[in-house]
Amino acid sequence: MPEVFNWQLGRKMQYQYEESRPKRQIAWVFDPNKCIACQTCTIACKQTWTWGRGQEYMLWNNVETKPYGFFPVGWDVQLLDMIGPGAWKDGKYEGKTVFEAAGPGERVKGWQPESEHWAYPNIGEDEPAGLADQGSYIKQTPHDMWFYYMARICNHCTYPACLAACPRQAIYKRPEDGIVLVDQARCRGYQECVSACPYKKVMFNNTTRTSEKCVACYPKIEQGDQPQCVVTCIGRIRIAGFISPPDVVDRRNPIDYLVKVKKVALPLYAQSGTEPNVYYIPPIHAERNYTRQMFGPETDSAIQKYANAKDDPELVGLMMLFGATERIIHGFDVKDGIARGYDEAGKEFVSVPLREPSFIREYFDDVRGTYLHNTT
Ligand code: SF4
Ligand code: SF4
Repeated sequence: MPEVFNWQLGRKMQYQYEESRPKRQIAWVFDPNKCIACQTCTIACKQTWTWGRGQEYMLWNNVETKPYGFFPVGWDVQLLDMIGPGAWKDGKYEGKTVFEAAGPGERVKGWQPESEHWAYPNIGEDEPAGLADQGSYIKQTPHDMWFYYMARICNHCTYPACLAACPRQAIYKRPEDGIVLVDQARCRGYQECVSACPYKKVMFNNTTRTSEKCVACYPKIEQGDQPQCVVTCIGRIRIAGFISPPDVVDRRNPIDYLVKVKKVALPLYAQSGTEPNVYYIPPIHAERNYTRQMFGPETDSAIQKYANAKDDPELVGLMMLFGATERIIHGFDVKDGIARGYDEAGKEFVSVPLREPSFIREYFDDVRGTYLHNTT
């Protein structure tokens, strides 16, 4: 089996096919610290892509409460059980990936959810970990009880497990932007992709008898726009753009800045081995062992930098650009209290002040002879 380099694991690993990175790779950064679980993203995606027959249960975008929320039930617990314990040493993952844990005759270690597993997208919603005494009230923060909201989509992985597992080669990764798609004409509904995806982001359509998945709103990406789940996000927790190849760092690129320069955004369960391209700023109030397992050994330093963002105008400025425009931001800078976003040609097209200007009204308008304040 070919060996490929996985920069998130800091080492080479086995994969079904030779390394073949796209010309550019679409990527996202999500900030769970700001998510309010309003599910606007979920509904925006559903109304755009999964309103047809056979798609009723599908949520290509879902938002689950961690630690007890899952869609499908138990997806990440199953993943960790399958690959077994694995330590990180000096930035290198020493455990097995889903490709390396596969048994004889298997391409990817996986499991097939049953319909019951998909039936409870809101299971565990708002359920905290930890206990409070009956009748007590919470006096201090941070406190022992915690939960957080995890927005999830397909990771458009660099080494997709779904693609590796498909015996029909019906799944492909677009060379122009790294989006992973299912060719509906080639798919025969074997569901090997459903079993293989460690994030359980391929879903089977019982009407068409084919597999379907998040398409990264490719018609929007092709026009230079960010996907629906990003532009509709009420909490402005998301940004989508293009991440540079592993050996390139462009500090003006918002995704590179968050993932490679500042390193505040980390891959979800990098130990799967798929090199996922959705990055998360770890939640700061969650139990640390839990988040370390989810986001890897850089979790503590990412949280530290995020918690100190008030002293870091460049980071704050970039975070202010989340949700500020429908267009993909290719470059950014922060100067004189203004964060600016630039298009591919380097032209400025969006700007946001780090601090909103505030105006204090006069109590009484002498010209109009009226009170400007609420007098009731
Ligand atoms: S998250 Fe799953 S469905 Fe999406 S590309 Fe990766 S392996 Fe395939
Ligand atoms: S729209 Fe944004 S804030 Fe609302 S649930 Fe989705 S990710 Fe969270």
